Amino acid sequence: MRPDVFIQALPKVELHLHLEGAIPWELVRRCSDVPLPATPPWWCDGFVFDDFASDFTDAVRICYRPVLTSVERYHRSARLIFAGLADQNVRHVEISFTPRYALHQGFQLPGIVGAIKGAAPTNLSVAVFAGLARNVPEVLDDHLIQAILDTSELDGVDLYGDERKGEVFPFVDFYALARSRGLRTKAHAGELVGPQSVTDALDHLRVKRIGHGVTAARDETLMKRLVAEGVTLDMCPTSNLKLRVVESIEAHPLQLLFRQGVSVTVNTDDPAIFGCSLSSELSLLVEKLGLTLSEIAQIEEHALHAAALPAATEAAIADEIAALTTQVM
Ligand SMILES: [Zn+2]
Repeated sequence: MRPDVFIQALPKVELHLHLEGAIPWELVRRCSDVPLPATPPWWCDGFVFDDFASDFTDAVRICYRPVLTSVERYHRSARLIFAGLADQNVRHVEISFTPRYALHQGFQLPGIVGAIKGAAPTNLSVAVFAGLARNVPEVLDDHLIQAILDTSELDGVDLYGDERKGEVFPFVDFYALARSRGLRTKAHAGELVGPQSVTDALDHLRVKRIGHGVTAARDETLMKRLVAEGVTLDMCPTSNLKLRVVESIEAHPLQLLFRQGVSVTVNTDDPAIFGCSLSSELSLLVEKLGLTLSEIAQIEEHALHAAALPAATEAAIADEIAALTTQVM
């Protein structure tokens, strides 16, 4: 079976996706006050950002600020994002949004989460996470905490942002509180700094899900710990390439971590900025890292397992993956 045919037929799960970085470019162009090119420069082959804190952050702003000006616009954005995922045979997505920005705009969080979830097509299940920026811990005030805890439709919380400028420690109490209220927790780590950042997230935030975790591959002991504790790394190869976390896709440690037994998943992070899709990311692994189709299926099994879906749904999708995989073994 051709890899592209297999990847399209494979039921897939996207676990690392930021709404603000996933709004289709056509919608951004239509909403923008200033003329924008037919395709953004960031999509070009060979393009890399200078720095996470400068031109990348600017690109994210260009993509969401003109669009997310009403609850209806959140809904419209989510509808287009989810339609694109459903077209790729993605069955479940965890999408995060930034509650700080939504509140600043005067929106109520239950309305935003409802607008996002209400945009899901029937064949795609959606979990919504509140994303907090680690480099601006001062925004985690009582108002934001209460707004998050009062939003019963929310599925979990995530920590993102510039690791060079923010530690996990200001978020420790909030993570414990969020978990006690039934929210799921995960955190970005090991993207812009070394493996200690992953260890800090595991030790102090007590998460079992890490966004990226690329630099964990530099630490043999940490890799063994990830396996022993069943930690999942939600990796995003093209994001890492364009943000210069890795020098090339061929140099990405995903394959090393995967073959060490770490539960690795593959995702898009900010696909509207990086110019990628979940299918194109999986194709890259076959073309550039030499992963077999059966290994691609194992990666989707990791994602399915990490998604915490109802047992019957998880089993049904697992059966589909297994049946498809027998055709390529
Ligand atoms: Zn991310």
